[in-house]
Amino acid sequence: MTPDLEKNYCSLQEQIRLSAQKAGRNPDSVRLLAVSKKMDSEKLRVLWQLGQRLFGENRVQEARVKIPEMPAGGEWHFIGGLQTNKAKDAVEYFDVIESVDRIDLANELEKRAAAVGKKLKIMLEVNVGGEAAKHGCDPQKAGELLQAVLPLARLEVVGLMAIPPFREDPEMARPFFLKLREIRDRLQDSGGVVLPELSMGMSHDFPVAIAEGATLVRIGTALFGPRSA
Ligand SMILES: *Cc1c(COP(=O)(O)O)cnc(C)c1O
Repeated sequence: MTPDLEKNYCSLQEQIRLSAQKAGRNPDSVRLLAVSKKMDSEKLRVLWQLGQRLFGENRVQEARVKIPEMPAGGEWHFIGGLQTNKAKDAVEYFDVIESVDRIDLANELEKRAAAVGKKLKIMLEVNVGGEAAKHGCDPQKAGELLQAVLPLARLEVVGLMAIPPFREDPEMARPFFLKLREIRDRLQDSGGVVLPELSMGMSHDFPVAIAEGATLVRIGTALFGPRSA
């Protein structure tokens, strides 16, 4: 398993660089978020030794066991749906919450961050495919959410995140990546803010996401292999 993990990691980093170059972008402008959900800390330490510091988790309960088992100095991103009653733990364990999709959650994160004297980076998750079963705010409401979040002193909005509808052919996901970038550009123009990060692209479609401007690709399966259910 370990030799594979090392091989996958190096090959992925190479593919990310090539995709960026092909798109005429600086390869350093795209970072790999290792989606480590359901993987134990032993595997994560292999990546850590290879230099990986950016990890993504989607469940607070799992992360509060795993994160303390890892060396300090990593950057932990929360990428799952977040219930308001888990905000306290999320603030304690994570550096970036990528899945902020509603005002009450932002307010709760602000309150919890203030209580522990922490500043928290967040991203706004946008439901670019308009899927009923998915998290993320309605693209039409993203401006409203941004305006509600900007005054919150403990939260720094650094960009947008999306999980587009699954398409067998990654090219078919391109319009959704483009859409997230356009929403970002519109929010920047109208909101007078800079939103540098676009978290989009997963194992099967990250090269397309990079072509459309992803700065953060969230990759699990292509790195660790399939997750057991
Ligand atoms: C699991 C997950 C990923 C990684 O998906 P893979 O297809 O395994 O690369 C990315 N983003 C989110 C939000 C996830 O939950």
